[in-house]
Amino acid sequence: MNTKIWLSSPHMGTNEFKNVKEAFDTNWIAPLGPHVDGFERDLAEFLGEGVHVAALSSGTAALHLALIMLGVQAGDEVICQSMTFSASANPIAYQGATPVFVDSEDRTWNMSPDLLETAIEDRIRLGKKPKAIIVVHLYGMPAEMDRIMAIADSYAIPVMEDAAEALGSTYKGRKLGTFGAMSILSFNGNKIITTSGGGALVSNNEAHIKQARFLATQARDAAPHYQHSHIGYNYRMSNVCAAIGRGQMDVLLDRVQQRRANFTFYQTGLAAIPAIQFAEEPNGEFYSNRWLSTVLVDDSQGVSREDIRLALERENIETRPLWKPMQLQPVFADAPYYGDGTSERLFDKGLCLPSGSNMTDEERERVLQAIKACFAK
Ligand SMILES: *Cc1c(COP(=O)(O)O)cnc(C)c1O
Repeated sequence: MNTKIWLSSPHMGTNEFKNVKEAFDTNWIAPLGPHVDGFERDLAEFLGEGVHVAALSSGTAALHLALIMLGVQAGDEVICQSMTFSASANPIAYQGATPVFVDSEDRTWNMSPDLLETAIEDRIRLGKKPKAIIVVHLYGMPAEMDRIMAIADSYAIPVMEDAAEALGSTYKGRKLGTFGAMSILSFNGNKIITTSGGGALVSNNEAHIKQARFLATQARDAAPHYQHSHIGYNYRMSNVCAAIGRGQMDVLLDRVQQRRANFTFYQTGLAAIPAIQFAEEPNGEFYSNRWLSTVLVDDSQGVSREDIRLALERENIETRPLWKPMQLQPVFADAPYYGDGTSERLFDKGLCLPSGSNMTDEERERVLQAIKACFAK
């Protein structure tokens, strides 16, 4: 049997283990410590724009705290990109609020500015102005931030960027994760850099980040005993995980280059197969970290997305359909939805190819040949 090729596996550099050993040697094995502070500084410095960062236990925890900081409460409505991972939407429900899903556009596969405006208008007409807008940069591709921010600003609705998949991507030269009133990152095992599990909350508003750190450590008031005047959470990142994160920050730009090289490799290698289309960056303003290389398969040539996925599975190569949109998820069946069929079509035809920054040339070649073989019959 061929060795397994994973969709996106962790890729450690050289400093991660050194940092973890230091955490052990100094006995900082706790959800706070010098590496947590250092990781927050590294991230803030990398992102620029004067942002502040809170390192947390997951991207989902960061999303939850972001909604709390934006004042989302029970009964509120929050607009969320429909084409995404469920973790983008679940925290809306944690707050007892209702998600209102908005479809994607063809160019970026992210939230359609036109449908966003339609949804805002309609929700206001029905009596409730949405409390926040969650826009996602899927697979690292920047959403159309100029238009989305302009629409959000014109209705005075704060934007939350789910940049879980987009660390290292830029829009008009500015890092994703610095546009929203609040933004989140994820360092889950499959992301472009990982802390094994972890996330971060990002904002220009330092008071919000301080308050988020406070809520994330059980909302302990300043007192010698345990005193609480807020409901708290246990959402802080461990110093051991942050030690890994600091090492990963040292290699982040290499990882972006390696993932982008994967995309170019597949695009060049499959250029002769017109049934396979790649998601191009619309123009020079969009710079994707290419977290995952994704394709659309036009099955009019007789080969479907599922044919390819199953053929590669037989070769011990892991691929995955694109995110199944939220309006198709049983758990969100009753949520309002504004769409034109784009995300359904993407889900139907889309496939994520193995994209790890640690893939060898031989492994990439195996993937390429296995795909080509599907069209050779
Ligand atoms: C991974 C991911 C999350 C969740 O992050 P976790 O750290 O796994 O909680 C949220 N949104 C998107 C789009 C993601 O890909």
